[in-house]
Amino acid sequence: MSAVPLRNNKAAASAVRTVSVLGATGSIGDSTMDLLRAARDRYQVEALTAHTNVQGLAKLAKEFGARFAAVADPARLGELKEALAGTRTECGAGESAIIEAAARPADWVMAAVSGAAGLKPALAAVDRGATVALANKECLVCAGDFFMQRAAKAGACILPADSEHNALFQALGSGNREELVRVIITASGGPFRTWAIADIEQATLAQALKHPNWSMGQKITIDSASMMNKGLEVIEASYLFALTPDEIDVLVHPQSIIHGMVEFSDRSVVAQLGAPDMRTPIAHCLGWPDRIVGPAAKLDLAKIGQLTFEAPAFDRFPALRLAYDALRTGRGATTVYNAANEVAVAAFIGGKIKFGVIARLVEATMDDWIRSGNLAPLTSADDAIAVDHSARNKAATLLPQIALKAT
Ligand code: NDP
Ligand code: MG
Repeated sequence: MSAVPLRNNKAAASAVRTVSVLGATGSIGDSTMDLLRAARDRYQVEALTAHTNVQGLAKLAKEFGARFAAVADPARLGELKEALAGTRTECGAGESAIIEAAARPADWVMAAVSGAAGLKPALAAVDRGATVALANKECLVCAGDFFMQRAAKAGACILPADSEHNALFQALGSGNREELVRVIITASGGPFRTWAIADIEQATLAQALKHPNWSMGQKITIDSASMMNKGLEVIEASYLFALTPDEIDVLVHPQSIIHGMVEFSDRSVVAQLGAPDMRTPIAHCLGWPDRIVGPAAKLDLAKIGQLTFEAPAFDRFPALRLAYDALRTGRGATTVYNAANEVAVAAFIGGKIKFGVIARLVEATMDDWIRSGNLAPLTSADDAIAVDHSARNKAATLLPQIALKAT
């Protein structure tokens, strides 16, 4: 049985739900807290987490009366305790505390840590059979299909929070698996959609951070500019819904109004639309199996006037092509794809490499991995984490020579 419930088999939602938010101080965390704020009587906050933003975390913990607050940076425990002195909130620090936050008995968990660092906490929620709203796509890409198998085994319910996958989740209910032909996820095309390849190569951090439609965290915004985000999402769709690469298409749609579509055997295409506001897919996950009131702007298609579409430019955005390659290769290749990208994005933010080097480093790391003959199915979290670590090391080793070639 799939861990993503493909039909709305409506069970009565309990009156007060306990919720935990992993990555509460980030962009998705912020949208989630906004929704919780609007319906305070329906939700009790169990645990909230952050990486280093102790003050932001403590403010939220106080506002929502959280039972537990955890900061990933172990050096900041004292600061967190001080900020929460006189409250009933228990404090924790370090990776183990983030895992503890996920393991505490909340009905619903938002997994919104950024990067593969979110894998172990997400698994801790999955293993106790929680309902997990999954925003953290890197953890799924890192773990491979093993993540969903483990979720199914534990009886966890995975609700896709990423807007495109949430759209597919909503549209998939219109037919059966045997009737599905393909899914289509849309991409805005990012800030460099119309740029020449030579200009994309030289793009600055400020230019990469100017997303035309979505307001998001720094890492995913850079991933959107390289279309690595769409690559991660192709892999995410494959694992979430057990789809082959040939069953997943990407369509550039600059207005970001249609988020995802599903084509069925009778050639009906079912789409989900909405303003580009993450509070809509998060509200769908938070309310599921019911629907709650969402705060996003009402969709005014007459005002928008035109919805346009383009084929993705695989030549100008090699990161997208590499995602399909990684998926077809399997056996840890998607873990390598993600790990190398995390190293490359950190180097780009740190001013060490040009924008064009990001995809090149990912490709070189994947090639090296395939040549080394290390490919093997991932059967545990430890397998995935070992591949992730070794790919990060390899990417860091390859980085200077790849960067030099690009100058
Ligand atoms: P942000 O960078 O805005 O926030 C990340 C959150 O995770 C923060 O709370 C941060 O804490 C925490 N965090 C970062 N690193 C660690 C770590 N090593 N250990 C524990 N906690 C950590 O990211 P976003 O909210 O934009 O994205 C979160 C996830 O959701 C990503 O996987 C992204 O791909 C996905 N996503 C985001 C969308 C968006 O619109 N933003 C859309 C769809 C998916 P601190 O604040 O202290 O740094
Ligand atoms: Mg998305």
